[in-house]
Amino acid sequence: MSTQQERHTALPLDLAPHAVAELGGQAVDLIVRQVAGLPDEPASDYGDAASLVALLRRPPAGEPGDFGTLIETFRQAASQGVNTAGPGYLAYFPAGGLVSSALGELLAQVANRYTGVAQTAPALVAMEESVLTWMAGLFGLPSGACGLITTGASQATLSAVVAARHDRLGPAFGDGTVYVTEHTHYSLAKAAQIAGLPAERIRTVPTTADLRMDVREATRMIAEDRAAGLRPFLLAGTAGSTSTGTVDPLADLGRLAREQGLWFHVDAAYGGGFQLTRRGRERLAGIEEADSLTFDPHKSLFLPYGTGVLLVREPAVLRAAHAGGGRYLQDLHEVDGLPDYGHLGVELTREFRGLRVWLPLHLHGVRAFEEALDEKLDLAGKVHRELSADPRLEVPWRPDLSVVPFRLRGSDDANRRLLDRINATRRVYLSSTTLDGAFYLRLCVLSVRTRAERVEEALRVIRAAL
Ligand SMILES: *Cc1c(COP(=O)(O)O)cnc(C)c1O
Repeated sequence: MSTQQERHTALPLDLAPHAVAELGGQAVDLIVRQVAGLPDEPASDYGDAASLVALLRRPPAGEPGDFGTLIETFRQAASQGVNTAGPGYLAYFPAGGLVSSALGELLAQVANRYTGVAQTAPALVAMEESVLTWMAGLFGLPSGACGLITTGASQATLSAVVAARHDRLGPAFGDGTVYVTEHTHYSLAKAAQIAGLPAERIRTVPTTADLRMDVREATRMIAEDRAAGLRPFLLAGTAGSTSTGTVDPLADLGRLAREQGLWFHVDAAYGGGFQLTRRGRERLAGIEEADSLTFDPHKSLFLPYGTGVLLVREPAVLRAAHAGGGRYLQDLHEVDGLPDYGHLGVELTREFRGLRVWLPLHLHGVRAFEEALDEKLDLAGKVHRELSADPRLEVPWRPDLSVVPFRLRGSDDANRRLLDRINATRRVYLSSTTLDGAFYLRLCVLSVRTRAERVEEALRVIRAAL
């Protein structure tokens, strides 16, 4: 951190090519150091957090600073807290963050072309569309299905719910009902609330003992609501729940939604990437019935945060729900065969998110992702087998994907302390959840950087902490 008073020469706002080379070199050097350091860095570190928080709350100075000092300050700030990019991160949903994607992002931001409409950057929009069309095909959606790249599943879910509401209920929607389970991610209820649906219109369908939506109960509740004069319109299935990675019976739910005229939304925010693997496709069977599908490449495609996807069976429905315009847009016209992303979602001006997805897929090849995800399924299976073999632990659910919940036979407090002891090693970082009223630790193998070696170390750490 710079405490020096030395004056730095002002760089023009618009950097000259030689300055771009000089600063870019320094930034790349830092990237190389950061990546090289990941295996040895602690999984969490709060040692300097308080002083850095205090220091970094200062406003910017009027005088210029030094690039090297400033990015070193960033490095220190980024080293504090939970190391979500490192191999020991086994909490929530790790991804790691592919550097190839981040480099693409840098290029995209420097180009700074406008992809809110196709007319201003047709080839970039085609690039973005190509990955969305590929994903729609991967999930078995019919040709013509497409969508957009969002900041994450929460934003994608908002647009999905608004499209469903617009399509199935029309302008007076206060009597519309939505069907979820207690394991559905809260972003769906949040989206419904933002979309203006009263909270009491969200129905929580009971689950079977294996934590999946009970289809018979859903059928019964839909009939009951209809008899009471309400309008059931959205059924939400989860392809990999946040707490346990459990997949709902998607084929049965899709059939029920079709029979009942409900919009079928599938939340594959976490599970979507596993569709690349044979085992994943078996477990996600029925996902092709989705009217809308959300998927987070910043989870199971290992991309940096801020990369979500919304896919819809009929893009025209999405467009109808997000349509608008202004006189100042009168110079723009549609380009044949290309989408105007600004009219399909919440954002008009948006960053070009296509390259951060397109570049790694084309650079590494799709098979590299399939193999990496297969490895995560194998590793989660190993964690499940080894923890299940320990009589001190309860491990009730075999993982559908790569999340393993477990608990010590004992009180919730004993389990809270176990989690603290595990995380205090700073070699791994786990999180917890509550299932059937009990505190569970959960271990999620998903980071591109979490390989067999770190998983074996995690098992040793857990056993030592019991
Ligand atoms: C992470 C997650 C979400 C929310 O996605 P964000 O990208 O954090 O907005 C929704 N559903 C599931 C199942 C998730 O795991």
